[in-house]
Amino acid sequence: MTVRTVLDDIRRRPGTGEVIPVIDPATEDQITEFTDGGAAAVDEAVARARATFESGVWRGLPGRERAKIMWRIADLIEEHADELNRLDSLNAGMPLIAAQMILPTCAEMFRYYAGWCTKTEGNAYDVQMTTGITGSAADLHAYTLKEPFGVVGLIFPWNGPIFNACAKLAPALAAGCSSVVKPAEETPLSAIVLERILAEAGVPDGVVNLVLGYGHTAGAALSAHPGVDKIAFTGSTEVGKLIVQAASGNLKKVMLELGGKSPVLIFDDADVETAVFSAAMGIFVHSGQGCVCGSRVFVQRGVYDQVVEGLAGMANTLRLGGPSEEGAVIGPLISQKQLTRVMGFVDEGKRDGVEVVTGGHRLDRRGYFVHPTVLTNVDRGMRLYQQEIFGPVVTVLPFDDEDEGVALANDTAYGLAGSVYTQNLSRAHRLAKRLEAGTITLNCQLVYDHALPFGGYKQSGWGREFGKDGIEAYLQTKTVYAQL
Ligand code: NAD
Repeated sequence: MTVRTVLDDIRRRPGTGEVIPVIDPATEDQITEFTDGGAAAVDEAVARARATFESGVWRGLPGRERAKIMWRIADLIEEHADELNRLDSLNAGMPLIAAQMILPTCAEMFRYYAGWCTKTEGNAYDVQMTTGITGSAADLHAYTLKEPFGVVGLIFPWNGPIFNACAKLAPALAAGCSSVVKPAEETPLSAIVLERILAEAGVPDGVVNLVLGYGHTAGAALSAHPGVDKIAFTGSTEVGKLIVQAASGNLKKVMLELGGKSPVLIFDDADVETAVFSAAMGIFVHSGQGCVCGSRVFVQRGVYDQVVEGLAGMANTLRLGGPSEEGAVIGPLISQKQLTRVMGFVDEGKRDGVEVVTGGHRLDRRGYFVHPTVLTNVDRGMRLYQQEIFGPVVTVLPFDDEDEGVALANDTAYGLAGSVYTQNLSRAHRLAKRLEAGTITLNCQLVYDHALPFGGYKQSGWGREFGKDGIEAYLQTKTVYAQL
């Protein structure tokens, strides 16, 4: 499919609700539009998913057959890389090179989970009872089975449209689930290509069902739907809480990958040049619209001034621009709404006496570009220090010793990630234990491998994606006792 075909295809999709414009965030131009599917589309999609789950057309296939189809999906993602990259960079505003770097991971994710199709297994047990309830001698054999959850609702945000879709779909398909997929309303385009890829690869009709629409309409209907067995959600902590409430009607299971306010600790003995480069990329990449972005940097006093200056220098050097602009490494924020939100935090901070070392303003041009921003003199009670901004804004605070650094780092409701820069190995691993977060990076940031579990402590989530935990999330355990 060409970019043009996708832009036309989405316009023609049926829907009952509002018309939703799709905006290029680098130019603010409308590139296409679609109609909100709303609750009606969710009802239909859940019914189709349920029918395929009951029929066993997918979950009943031998694991090796599902695996073959998943390998075909991976191959087709690579074959369609060009249009997927162009759609995601156009739609999410990310530089083409960023989309090109992410896409191979999406294909590999399907290959990785294809391997799990033949490796989900239960256990056998020696039962310890001596007599059964009927008084008969309990000569029992027992074992566990791993079974797909059923119909799962997959809801995710705009910050990595094709990546977020694959992160959920690959393990869900490997487990044998049928699904309803709801991408973010801002970035529905690459999902249209993925839908075609799944069909071409041989995923039976109705196993994966795409629903387009707003969160408060289609997303809310999916979360509350009695025909859905589990919701796997990536998004804000605020919406995560709404999903938990909506899910309570049928007590559907919920997996949540939520927001973060991740700390970065830089010690006096760190390789400061590396730390500064890495911490700057760790917050400014994708204009700060990454869940693991290190938005709170804490620096030991001896190198504090050097780090503040270094971060500001990087912030002033990184070139901003749209996907088609030569040399741009950082794109815009996703929407006017996000721009208003980010600038709201910054302007409030300015009024409250925060020092803007650099940035703190949007660029004087079209597109939702915000200059990478470094803030000091921040009070820990401030909203911009407490809440996730999801923009290119970093606060920098000094600390004196390890205990103070850890206390500052852990003083947050979030717990998605944390980073430490030090050349003292013992300290690095000691801090890996002391920081309250699901992923810790030592002397690096923005590293990832889908073989390793990922998820949040505290209000950054429930459950884990990726790795073995990732497929377990789409399986439930059944225990079987047998009288011999
Ligand atoms: P969001 O929570 O507003 O939206 C995410 C998705 O939820 C969208 O598809 C949206 O349509 C849907 N949604 C909105 N309201 C809903 C409702 N009431 N019921 C059901 N669905 C609803 O998040 P966002 O602003 O689009 O994305 C940014 C957030 O995502 C940040 O908080 C970021 O940290 C988080 N995120 C987390 C991870 C992770 O793995 N932990 C990864 C990426 C992004």
